[in-house]
Amino acid sequence: MPNRPYIVGNWKMNGTRAMLAEARAIDRGAARYPSVRVGVAPPFTLVSAMAEALQTASVGAQDCHAEASGAFTGNVSAPMLGDAGASFVIVGHSERRAMHGETDSMVRAKAEAALAAGLEVIVCVGETEAERDAGQAEAVVTGQVAASLPQGEGIVPRVTVAYEPVWAIGTGRVPSVDDVGAMHRAIRAQLLESYGDEGAIVRILYGGSVNAGNAANLLAADEVGGALVGGASLTADAFLPIVLAAASPDAE
Ligand code: PEP
Repeated sequence: MPNRPYIVGNWKMNGTRAMLAEARAIDRGAARYPSVRVGVAPPFTLVSAMAEALQTASVGAQDCHAEASGAFTGNVSAPMLGDAGASFVIVGHSERRAMHGETDSMVRAKAEAALAAGLEVIVCVGETEAERDAGQAEAVVTGQVAASLPQGEGIVPRVTVAYEPVWAIGTGRVPSVDDVGAMHRAIRAQLLESYGDEGAIVRILYGGSVNAGNAANLLAADEVGGALVGGASLTADAFLPIVLAAASPDAE
């Protein structure tokens, strides 16, 4: 089922081994909805234990270094993540772009490193509130897509894009369904420009304050292929209703 919706939890800097029980509960829930692909990205310290514990949901990381090894104290490389059991990496999250100065070209290098290590990537893009207010949201986001997307032979099936308006992350505010659809259409057009016809197969996730109450609406917007979920991914009780919202109507 290559086009099934993809619901990914980003645990950010949350979680110790005590939370593996929650991850197992998410995994059991994911097994009940085979029409949805589920992923969880815990902090680095939990990747290995979670990869061993989960059977249905895929396990990923929230960042990687662009180099495979070397004198980069405190960093973790893509091959190391693969070795720990990760199957995907989120790159270019707005918190990393803002707090760690990551530029589009750095994000692209990280994405290419992840793909070279055999992982899948989720490339995050999104405008700030000031950029939206200035009428620049679409230009900013499509510019980020164009400059952050990895390039290379045969990579497109392993690339996902996540549109996450910065002002919607962790705030409880979400764009209108029309605005989400308009942005996702613009991202699709850019994907087709960047990757040619293959750009049609790239999933575009929406992220930013997705929860059980708004998921069905947001997932129904044009060109939305799933969701990247922060706060509401930390417990099975909050996360599984979002997975259910993405499931085919005949799944339950
Ligand atoms: C995120 O950080 O990727 C995110 C979407 O967070 P939240 O769901 O908490 O807004």
